[in-house]
Amino acid sequence: MLKIGLTGGIGSGKTTVAKVFKQLGIPVYASDDRAKALMTEDVALRSALCSQFGDKAFVDGILNRAYIASKVFYNKKALEQLNALVHPAVEADFLAWYDIQISPYIIKEAAILIESGGHKRLDQIILVQAPEEIRISRVLKRDGGEQSHVLARMKEQWSDTQKEAHAQHIISNDGKSSVLEQVLKLHDFFKSQ
Ligand code: ATP
Repeated sequence: MLKIGLTGGIGSGKTTVAKVFKQLGIPVYASDDRAKALMTEDVALRSALCSQFGDKAFVDGILNRAYIASKVFYNKKALEQLNALVHPAVEADFLAWYDIQISPYIIKEAAILIESGGHKRLDQIILVQAPEEIRISRVLKRDGGEQSHVLARMKEQWSDTQKEAHAQHIISNDGKSSVLEQVLKLHDFFKSQ
């Protein structure tokens, strides 16, 4: 069963594309959602987070997202430490999930996939792309907040040009090309592998 990675910069439309694969009956592992869940559910991960970030990491047993975000937002080293704890837990969770799927292929959606080297453990990679100004306006429309925060998050991620070198497939989500047509083509291709 092929493992297909689905990635793209903030606001590129990964989740939107993932939804189309889901509608075609393809199992989708949403790494970022699972990471959030595991930070609360996984006892070993919780305890590692407490050791790393202190008791404020949890308030009444609930993950203190704002506190952790404030610790890692402009601190590259702290972000790397957080990822070093969370990524192995997500990988183990993904493999357990993968083992029980029945499908010609599965999709693993992740915002940070190529940057972390996670793409090397997958068979093929789809990169979702959209022009930066469109991505910024979509994120602001979706989340509100400040443009400077979106730009700061973009800066933490690799550029599309850097990512292209590791992707076998590109989906253009620029609002002009049909995402459905592009997904259907890839769906046929993966099923024929
Ligand atoms: P993030 O990395 O921030 O999680 P993402 O890559 O998963 O983002 P989405 O959440 O799929 O991106 O898309 C960002 C926003 O843009 C969403 O509100 C989504 O509904 C909207 N969007 C995505 N694609 C399109 C499109 N082709 N036309 C209009 N809006 C779109």
